[in-house]
Amino acid sequence: MGALYADVVGQDLAVADLHAAARAPVHAYLLVGPPGSGKRAAARSFAASLLCRHGGCGQCADCRRALAETHPDLVVVERAAAFIRVDEAREITRMAVRSPLEGRYQVLVLVDFHLVDKAAPALLKTIEEPPPTTVFVILAEHLAPALVTIASRCARIDLLPVSADALAAQLRAEGVDEQTAREAAAASGGRMDRARLLASDPGITARLARWREAPRRLDGTGAAVASVVDELLASADATLEPLRGRQVAELEALASRARMAGERAIPGHSEVQARHRRELRRWRTDELRFGLAAMAGTYRDRLVSTSATGRPTAGWIEAIQAIQAAAAALDRNPNEALLLQGLALGLPPAVPLEVGVPPGAGGAHFRA
Ligand SMILES: [Zn+2]
Repeated sequence: MGALYADVVGQDLAVADLHAAARAPVHAYLLVGPPGSGKRAAARSFAASLLCRHGGCGQCADCRRALAETHPDLVVVERAAAFIRVDEAREITRMAVRSPLEGRYQVLVLVDFHLVDKAAPALLKTIEEPPPTTVFVILAEHLAPALVTIASRCARIDLLPVSADALAAQLRAEGVDEQTAREAAAASGGRMDRARLLASDPGITARLARWREAPRRLDGTGAAVASVVDELLASADATLEPLRGRQVAELEALASRARMAGERAIPGHSEVQARHRRELRRWRTDELRFGLAAMAGTYRDRLVSTSATGRPTAGWIEAIQAIQAAAAALDRNPNEALLLQGLALGLPPAVPLEVGVPPGAGGAHFRA
């Protein structure tokens, strides 16, 4: 079990369910979990446990080929357009009635089925009652309305966002140093894919330092606020480049598949672009939230050292609360520059500890 599910990080409950299911598999499983929670890796491992002649040893040729998605009885079906198309649903039905090529089962993994949309009715019968040698593993980020009826015909297994501890442990196991692993895990929003990207991002330490230093550069003037906020936003923007690169590659892959299918345009092109804009926005918001957490850490350090001296700490506490409120407001507030400027104007300068002027005494700038 350990080796077989080694790629599925921090999903002990789901892995235990899949492990138990492999002993007497039913016709269809629905794996529901947010992006980066390990659905596809879980599907590969589960397929290996069905295709392995030793009940899922994780070592034999069947297991290795299933885990590499090269086993002929493991078919991963990916959509060619923004949604699953009806002709793709028919192709799935055609594949479902085939006999396994090598072993007892064939496993059909259907990816992105929260996007099943209009293709759902064409698949219901097949998913409900495939030949006994076919097992479906359906992956979805959430239970979209069009997916509900299909879901009622499947055994459902939920994957949760991965805990920061589990992510950090996995990154360390992959050779990432302790501090980077912790920072990347905390900033990943429970996503293994994002945690890996952040851990391999050489700019992460410098960006964290920029956010931690920002409160020291505030001197109560609008000029300091403007330059600090501009810099922070520019550094958040720079982190979008790898994601933009991946999106360009995805559009190119869709375009070449469309050309091969004899289509002149990418089907669902505008939906893909809309999804890309949402991804960019979410990434940016995550990055700003990550930075604000680092900034709050600076005030938390002040709070700890000030309270050790017995001096008033209310100003530091209010600063931390204002930062937390700004982080929570990011989702609702499309104007990030205004939001951050408003925050920075109200924050007290985090003077060096050795100077030790507490806020609220000696003319601090903080206004609640
Ligand atoms: Zn095996």
